Amino acid sequence: MQPQPSLAIQTQDLVRTYTIGDRAVKALRGIDLQVPTGRFIALKGRSGSGKTTLLNCLGGLDQPTSGEVIVNGRSLSGLSEKELTHWRRSEVGFIFQSFGLLPTLSAYENVELMLRISKLARKERRDRAMHCLEMVGLEKWAGHRPYEMSGGQQQRVAIARSIANNPQLILADEATGELDSETTHEVLALFRTIIADKGITMLLATHDNLVDEYVDQVLQLGDGQILE
Ligand code: ADP
Ligand code: MG
Repeated sequence: MQPQPSLAIQTQDLVRTYTIGDRAVKALRGIDLQVPTGRFIALKGRSGSGKTTLLNCLGGLDQPTSGEVIVNGRSLSGLSEKELTHWRRSEVGFIFQSFGLLPTLSAYENVELMLRISKLARKERRDRAMHCLEMVGLEKWAGHRPYEMSGGQQQRVAIARSIANNPQLILADEATGELDSETTHEVLALFRTIIADKGITMLLATHDNLVDEYVDQVLQLGDGQILE
């Protein structure tokens, strides 16, 4: 597959098979994807259709059984485990359903922690973390811990954290799954703003029909394949 500069994500015949004992579960059965840079894409499909597996393969958290993944012109198959980790930390933002915040740290510390691994100086890290919290409207909550915040606020901290490293790609797995519909609307609108603002590409795995009006495209996954 030839890397194309205008595409954030390219996959060709992506297959991921899990082997459990003598049983093979085909989680992805040949996914061909071409996502232009800057798009906001919803990945829909029933539970077990392969959404999480696909996001994990695109973000280098999981290795496909066969097929190729190219993200922003870079083929992931050639990278070592160490190179993958480095690439992921510098170019990808992850958001999970369960937020994944560290409970003993404040909102600010949760975001700033992402920057510790970068080479930024202390003041730059501080400015950047505060800027990200401002982007999600939580600058006044910087000193609060997750348990003092609502689910929507915690998810916004997770969003601030996911953009802290200036990622080119955000992969969000059921990121609104725990939120009520009003908060879901807020978070989706926030995603749109961030994507437009920073030219980021985003894939959001979800069951939620509320996303339809916010995304550029809906990809329907069924049984490890793209249905349309
Ligand atoms: P979704 O996120 O759409 O619910 P998943 O990607 O989690 O779907 O799962 C796709 C299929 O792969 C399912 O049949 C699931 O049971 C299987 N699967 C996912 N992860 C594993 C794993 N670590 N080991 C074995 N089977 C798995
Ligand atoms: Mg899933």
